[in-house]
Amino acid sequence: MDKIGVLVTHKPLPYLEQELTRRGCRLFRLWESPESRRLEFCRQNAADIQAIVGNSNYGADAATIDALPKLEIVASFSVGLDKVDLPKCKERGIRVTNTPDVLTDDVADLAIGLAISVMRRIPSADKYARSGAWKKGEYTLTTRFSGKRVGILGLGRIGLAIAKRAEAFDCPISYYSRSEKPHPNYTYYSTPIDLASNCDILVVACALTEETRHIINRAVIDALGPKGVLINIGRGPHVDEPELVAALVEGRLGGAGLDVFENEPHVPEELFALDNVVLVPHVASATIETRTAMADLVLGNLEAHFLKKPLLTPVV
Ligand code: NAP
Repeated sequence: MDKIGVLVTHKPLPYLEQELTRRGCRLFRLWESPESRRLEFCRQNAADIQAIVGNSNYGADAATIDALPKLEIVASFSVGLDKVDLPKCKERGIRVTNTPDVLTDDVADLAIGLAISVMRRIPSADKYARSGAWKKGEYTLTTRFSGKRVGILGLGRIGLAIAKRAEAFDCPISYYSRSEKPHPNYTYYSTPIDLASNCDILVVACALTEETRHIINRAVIDALGPKGVLINIGRGPHVDEPELVAALVEGRLGGAGLDVFENEPHVPEELFALDNVVLVPHVASATIETRTAMADLVLGNLEAHFLKKPLLTPVV
């Protein structure tokens, strides 16, 4: 990939940066430019940029793509492609790749971890032990996770991995997707409200599209109810966040475990005081093993494209 110009939208994993450099790529570090000057930065370097490496927060929107006439490929360091203008890429003949499968286990692990953390109040029990409060009395009773009804919104790769894990805890599984899947042990519901009405823990694991934006709205939250728990390891905009915050503050929802937020890295401050909420900063795939495998997929896709070989994980 000698002298290939790669626009990197975000501060990358050091391994990915080193490997791109070692393979002779010229890196254009978009994240180092102030936000207001990023399009200008693209236009100034347009003659040299043939590839974009984006991620879940900063991909390739229409304006960026329009500013780069030599762009050939967008290799996203993420499985979700809601930050890439896919129709525009198709129209321009720009190839798009993502990083499926390699992150599935970690994301599913975190979904289960969040559910147990919320129900068993692990972070607040940890605080109780550390603060010395235990000496004054035992910690409050919590709620069992094993055997609870788990509803999965989006039974794709990650949704299925969550279902398999939850089955090991004797949890009955149900799901909502656009179509019923060949999993006879799992109950299909044809609307998100029906799913929420029939589970104790609702896990959001679908792709973010115009159809699924705010798929978790007030009606779904109310259907889940004051004993229900919402886990979101999908994308922040799947959830109407002000409605979620209001439901948690007013006790209309039992709890929430959130890896993603509508306006990252902003986290609604009203949630900070709530013991029934566990908040993590978009880290579902953030293990050394998975992030290294994701970087290898990005590198493999770029290399395949510029060597005119088949892409490893093509989307467009
Ligand atoms: P996947 O295998 O493509 O699964 C996506 C699922 O979304 C499919 O089951 C699909 O089901 C469902 N879906 C799409 N449109 C829908 C709609 N309108 N209504 C209901 N369901 C819909 O993708 P994956 O690898 O499991 O990843 C899923 C998502 O997880 C990604 O898109 C990403 O946003 C998120 N993710 C988050 C993190 C994190 O760090 N928190 C990490 C990785 C991934 P049908 O086609 O049957 O409707």
